[in-house]
Amino acid sequence: MPPLTDRLKRPLEDLRISVTDRCNFRCVYCMPKEIFGTAFQFLPRQDLLTFEEITRLGHIFADLGVQKIRLTGGEPLVRKGVETLVAELARIPGIKEVAMTTNGSLLTQERAKELRNAGLKRVTVSLDSLNDSTFQIINDVDFPVLRVLEAIDHAHAAGLSPIKINMVVKRGVNDQDIVPMAEHFRHTGHILRYIEYMDVGTANGWRLDDVVPAFEIVAAVSAHWPLDPVAPERAGDVAARFRYRDGAGEIGIISSVSQPFCTNCSRARLSPEGRLYLCLFGQSGYDLRALLRGGKTDTAVRGVIERIWTGRQVRYSEERRQDTVGLPKVEMFRIGG
Ligand code: SAM
Ligand code: SF4
Ligand code: SF4
Repeated sequence: MPPLTDRLKRPLEDLRISVTDRCNFRCVYCMPKEIFGTAFQFLPRQDLLTFEEITRLGHIFADLGVQKIRLTGGEPLVRKGVETLVAELARIPGIKEVAMTTNGSLLTQERAKELRNAGLKRVTVSLDSLNDSTFQIINDVDFPVLRVLEAIDHAHAAGLSPIKINMVVKRGVNDQDIVPMAEHFRHTGHILRYIEYMDVGTANGWRLDDVVPAFEIVAAVSAHWPLDPVAPERAGDVAARFRYRDGAGEIGIISSVSQPFCTNCSRARLSPEGRLYLCLFGQSGYDLRALLRGGKTDTAVRGVIERIWTGRQVRYSEERRQDTVGLPKVEMFRIGG
């Protein structure tokens, strides 16, 4: 069967599933405490897709050509029993890889092993600084760097490698950590990925001035250790890859703002309550949960997703303008980056 493609000929290959809107961090660029404080109402349990519902959608998406699933959130490890879900998804015919993006705070040695045994292939661990005071200004819950570094070690020991480390760079907050982070992760086999701070959602009060563009990041790192560009592994990869000329490994740069990559975007995103988003900067999504709970057959649900994907023409980052930045958009913690 030919791959399902959208109006810009982009195939549907990856599915990112946000398994919860809750998180134990309050990163300033994602869930600022002033908005997501103790009074904030997260989704009630009955609104979340159950593991059975997620697995059912996993089968349908795999039928439509999805090969990679990434669990994210919120913080995916705050959802109880997520290992069971990993095991169900990893068993789906056609799914080659189940991965996870996590802040690492709950990734103990035990949990890393359980996830691996359940069939998780790889993890991406987010870490924005090696300096405790900077990291704590960002996570805003006093979480120490050392515990995240330990989580990375646990993931490595459990075989969840190669591990990617996500560092969101915000000017004036952690740009001084670009070089120390490179230094720390050189020679480890882990792939540090610098992410341009994005205008996802509206809660973070994003300003273009806060973005450190990719060229500046590459220049800062290569001034210490020369880098050579590397071809992407596949068309849908979002990170531009660079290899250290001295053989110390590679880094990635996700330049959604300065060099958008919508042309190759093959990702669908599912929110915790079962809404399908065609773009990280989507506004409302499509309610798949209503179909599942309304008694539709798999064939019917599949048909709906097919129609939605074939009509897709969004390419927000390529069209970003000053007046699109403030438009209502889904928050990052609901669709997981
Ligand atoms: N809680 C998990 C974590 O932090 O890894 C998974 C969800 S988090 C939303 C996924 C990724 O999105 C993280 O690496 C995070 O740093 C990144 N992120 C969140 N808000 C962002 C923003 N405004 N711009 C760029 N990246 C962002
Ligand atoms: Fe939580 Fe991840 Fe958002 Fe930070 S980036 S607040 S860890 S969901
Ligand atoms: Fe994909 Fe939307 Fe990001 Fe473009 S802006 S790469 S379409 S998620």
